[in-house]
Amino acid sequence: MKRVLVTGGAGFIGSHLCKRLLKDGHDVICLDNYFTGSKDNIRELIGNDHFELVRHDITNPYDAEVDEIYNLACPASPPYYQYNPVKTIRTSVMGVLNMLDLANRCKAKIIQASTSEIYGDPKVHPQREDYWGNVNPIGVRSCYDEGKRCAETLMTDYNRQYGVNTRIIRIFNTYGPFMAQNDGRVVSNFIVQALQDKDITIYGDGTQTRSFCYVSDLIEGMVRMMNNTEDFHGPVNLGNPSERSILDFAKLIIKLTNANSNIIFKPLPSDDPTQRKPDISLAKEKLHWEPTVDIEEGLMKTIEYFDKKLKEGK
Ligand code: NAD
Ligand code: UDP
Repeated sequence: MKRVLVTGGAGFIGSHLCKRLLKDGHDVICLDNYFTGSKDNIRELIGNDHFELVRHDITNPYDAEVDEIYNLACPASPPYYQYNPVKTIRTSVMGVLNMLDLANRCKAKIIQASTSEIYGDPKVHPQREDYWGNVNPIGVRSCYDEGKRCAETLMTDYNRQYGVNTRIIRIFNTYGPFMAQNDGRVVSNFIVQALQDKDITIYGDGTQTRSFCYVSDLIEGMVRMMNNTEDFHGPVNLGNPSERSILDFAKLIIKLTNANSNIIFKPLPSDDPTQRKPDISLAKEKLHWEPTVDIEEGLMKTIEYFDKKLKEGK
């Protein structure tokens, strides 16, 4: 049994990870400031002797004796990370420094949840880990992109300078139950709109592409990265290489929900990446990992989740 700290544990991915780690027999400390997460996501864990919930903001130092740290704390949806951009940078810089200092003191392994956004609007397709990206340093997405890039630098330098056992994963668009309904990301927006027969809002002309990974696949990859015993620190891409346009994605959601929704087109936000697809050769080689959940199967589970939430009025 290990003592594992999950920052951002009340968020979408964090809540799935806490559940998985408890199932694997570990003691879990879930730390969150509830900016985009919610106690509802982890309600079933409250009262479990192996689970502790702490309200804390990682931009302030935190201390505990832990063996492993998964650093997930950071808003992930563009409207939320752009709401207070300076805070977003603080979370990815001060927050990551605080978690690295903790890892250094405890001799804990630490995983940083990085992102495909560090590739920006990529000129190389699909994206491999050795591509350095094409990121606007002063755009509306920069607080997130550059914050996460700086976090990768900090992880690498704590490893080089202090020997901290760091691991970087670059997560590509992930979806599933426990995404927030009002989160603003494309999967939750389209499903909630379709379930209510409202217009489906495509930003731009819908030709931009994304590759969507079901959350259980991602969690498996994260855990494998933490448990990897080789001298492998990443970065490693974790995502599903099955790429589709946002227009095709909207049509798929309409089909799966039997919705009577119309598709409408709204302005494309600035710096919205035109294409995104992970090359996962490295994850296959080092972690023996690849996604197994097909998009329709994953979406049906997600649709069921949102349908229940909407019927409960939550
Ligand atoms: P989320 O917004 O659901 O979860 C983030 C959690 O972090 C929330 O519970 C939020 O309250 C908490 N948080 C935010 N700032 C904090 C702070 N300063 N201190 C403490 N807690 C804080 O997002 P998610 O989709 O679960 O993403 C989790 C992580 O994975 C993020 O770091 C995100 O950047 C990364 N990621 C996610 C995706 C994706 O598609 N979901 C893609 C790439 C990277
Ligand atoms: N998007 C859209 N309609 C929405 C929400 C998002 O067309 O209601 C688009 C968005 O412009 C982007 C893609 O869907 O091109 C994925 O957006 P999301 O915010 O989910 O993630 P990210 O842009 O960070 O990959």
